Amino acid sequence: SLVSQPAFLEAVIDQASTYPNFEFIQGSPVQDLFWSEQRVSGVKLGDDRSICANLVIGADGRNSVVRQRANLPLEQQSGSFDILWFKLADSSRFESENVFYTIVRDRNAFGLFRSTSGNLQIGWALHEDAAMDWKQADWPEILAFASPPWLAEHIRTHAETIERPVLLSVVVGRCPRWYAPGLLLLGDAVHPMSPIRAQGINMALRDVIVAANHLVPLLREGATDAAIDAVLPQIQAEREPEIIRAQQLQSQEAAQAELLRKSALLRWGASQLAPLLGKRVRHSWLARQRQLRQGVTQIQLTV
Ligand SMILES: Cc1cc2nc3c(=O)[nH]c(=O)nc-3n(C[C@H](O)[C@H](O)[C@H](O)COP(=O)(O)OP(=O)(O)OC[C@H]3O[C@@H](n4cnc5c(N)ncnc54)[C@H](O)[C@@H]3O)c2cc1C
Repeated sequence: SLVSQPAFLEAVIDQASTYPNFEFIQGSPVQDLFWSEQRVSGVKLGDDRSICANLVIGADGRNSVVRQRANLPLEQQSGSFDILWFKLADSSRFESENVFYTIVRDRNAFGLFRSTSGNLQIGWALHEDAAMDWKQADWPEILAFASPPWLAEHIRTHAETIERPVLLSVVVGRCPRWYAPGLLLLGDAVHPMSPIRAQGINMALRDVIVAANHLVPLLREGATDAAIDAVLPQIQAEREPEIIRAQQLQSQEAAQAELLRKSALLRWGASQLAPLLGKRVRHSWLARQRQLRQGVTQIQLTV
């Protein structure tokens, strides 16, 4: 899903604020966990405040502090890469939002889409073997050179609107164990997702639905710590197969892209065959993506 994360998070906070026990604390990140008799019993915030809890849920993203403090190891997939993120002026060609273009030229590849905030966003894959100083590079020219003529013209015309790129590190992996007594990890904190096919937000939300289905009834009835801890393995068991499959499919796509990137012959073949086999290739490519886009398990909120 290509959504504006700030707008989405605001909507979630607005909705959550209708509950009397909800409090949104901004600017004081979790720094540490409290333990009581080998069970997590709360968090310590950056401003030295402490919050006690029957259950701490760590949904603090791919560099999760909660995961580190709980000593839940992350097994990272190899072959990681970084992404340089650019913004530039909109073009009338991109009237319909949510179309994602992948542009491949020589050994370079980038993704392009029109964001909900009305500008174009570009994600440029920065590979370990890229021999360039990205901070000094002439990006408008590099992007234009890698683009088809219609896009190159737009980039050159609006070169001055291209902001300095932001470097986003891509971490992909999974924790063998998603929980500890009194603690559960969800989303990227426990299975950081690749940006390929933009499924990380979906996967995190689907984790939350499954966790809510298991935990809300227990928390409503004031369940014991032991009863809460007992459902944590079930949440992992319900979510893990889909995460494993999604990460497999993402890494297969990454491997194909890497083959194209490294083989000039393959790129040439693909460009020659595209006009002839384009429809069939597109069809089989979309079919292969179905599981990634729609998930492999039925997920429904039941509380
Ligand atoms: C370059 C790139 C592009 C991507 N593009 C897409 C895309 O288009 N669509 C898509 O679906 N997925 C995309 N993904 C994947 C997606 O970003 C993640 O899978 C998804 O955001 C995971 O959601 P999350 O809530 O688990 O973690 P996050 O979205 O990372 O949220 C974690 C939250 O925790 C907060 N936090 C961090 N540390 C602390 C702390 N110590 N205390 C308190 N709070 C803390 C952060 O401020 C943040 O708000 C992309 C990933 C990358 C790397």
